[in-house]
Amino acid sequence: MGRVALVTGGTRGIGAAISGSLKKSGYRVAAVYHGNDEAAAAFKSETGVAVYKWDVADYEACKAGAAVVESDIGPVEVLVNNAGITRDATLHRMRADQWQMVLDTNLGSCFNMCNVVIEKMRQSKFGRIVNIGSINGQAGQYGQVNYAAAKSGIHGFTKALAQEGAKLGITVNAVAPGYVDTDMVRAVPENVLEKIVAGIPVGRLGRAEDIARTVLFLVADEADFITGSTLSVNGGQHMY
Ligand code: NDP
Repeated sequence: MGRVALVTGGTRGIGAAISGSLKKSGYRVAAVYHGNDEAAAAFKSETGVAVYKWDVADYEACKAGAAVVESDIGPVEVLVNNAGITRDATLHRMRADQWQMVLDTNLGSCFNMCNVVIEKMRQSKFGRIVNIGSINGQAGQYGQVNYAAAKSGIHGFTKALAQEGAKLGITVNAVAPGYVDTDMVRAVPENVLEKIVAGIPVGRLGRAEDIARTVLFLVADEADFITGSTLSVNGGQHMY
C-alpha cells in the first residue's frame, strides 16, 4: 500500500495538482480545504481523493482533523503544507486582522500541522514534509508585508525543523513558487499581471503541475539526502 499523504489546501489550485499527482503515483491522499465545498466536491468526484474540511489556522481543528485522517487512512507520512491566503494592503493601511489572518493561515498552519503529525513520523523513523513558500517571501512584494513575512518565516521554519528531523528519517523542505496560474493569481488585475509575465524569463506563468512535480520529487523515499532546502520554481524570475 502507498504511503499516506496529507495536503492542506489540497482541493484547488496548486494543492489540487499536488494531491492529484500524489494519488496518481500511488499515495493514499487526504486533501484538506476550508470553505469552498463546491470545489472540494468537484475535485473529489474527479480524482477520487478523500477530502476533509477544517481550518489549518486553528490548532485544535488540526489536531482533531489529523486524528480523523489517521483513523480513516493511517498515520500521515507525507505532509504538504500548501494552504495559503493573501490579504494585501500597504502597511500604513493594513489592519491588524489582515496581518494576523495571513500569518496564522500561511505560517501558523505549518506549526499546527507539523506539531500534530510529527510524533508518529519520529516513531516510525520516516517522514516527508514540504512547505510551500513563495517568491514573495524571498524577494518581498509591495502591498504584502503580511504575506512576505509569513512566507519568509516558512523558509526559516523549514531549516530549523530539518535539523530536528535529520537523524530520524524526516526530511523537511520548502518549495518557493513564482507566479502560478491559479485563482490566487487570477485575482491580480490584468495590467499588473502583464507586467509580471514580462518579468519572467521563461515567458509564461507557472502551472500548478510545475509545483506538483517538484513536490513529488522531494517526498520520494529516495530523496532522503535532501533536507532543509528551498527549491525555487519561478521560470527564472528570481535567482539567488
Ligand atoms: P488557491 O487560492 O487557489 O487555493 C488555496 C487552497 O488553500 C484552497 O484549497 C483553500 O480552501 C485552502 N485554504 C485556504 N485557507 C485555508 C485554511 N484556513 N484552512 C484550510 N485550507 C485553507 O491558492 P494557490 O493554489 O494559488 O496557492 C497554494 C499555495 O501556494 C499557497 O500557500 C500560496 O501562498 C502559494 N503560492 C502561490 C502562488 C501563485 O502564484 N498562485 C505563488 C507562490 C506561492 P478552499 O478551497 O476551501 O478555499
